[in-house]
Amino acid sequence: MSDITYDDRPAHESPPVSYGDFITFAHEKGLYRDCPICGANDWHPQVNTGEKQVHGDEAPMFLSTIPDARIEKYFAVYLMNCRNCGNVRFVSAKVLMRWRDARG
Ligand SMILES: [Zn+2]
Repeated sequence: MSDITYDDRPAHESPPVSYGDFITFAHEKGLYRDCPICGANDWHPQVNTGEKQVHGDEAPMFLSTIPDARIEKYFAVYLMNCRNCGNVRFVSAKVLMRWRDARG
């Protein structure tokens, strides 16, 4: 069973991505650019606030989904929102998990 890759199973069944992983990914991929709506650069990644015992870099990111009508499934995403205007950006959970797992 260990040869299942993260591309083969739903994102919610993979180990959660931590806030620290997300921040490293966001900086490495250049996600912290100015907001295309308001021009501010004040992004807030959404962590899972239901995990009260875990804080800081180890806090799990909030895994959300958006419907994909074309394939009648859901697309797993992480969210970051602009603190100035509320613009929300989506980051593919599978892309981030693939990046994390490739780093070892
Ligand atoms: Zn904005």
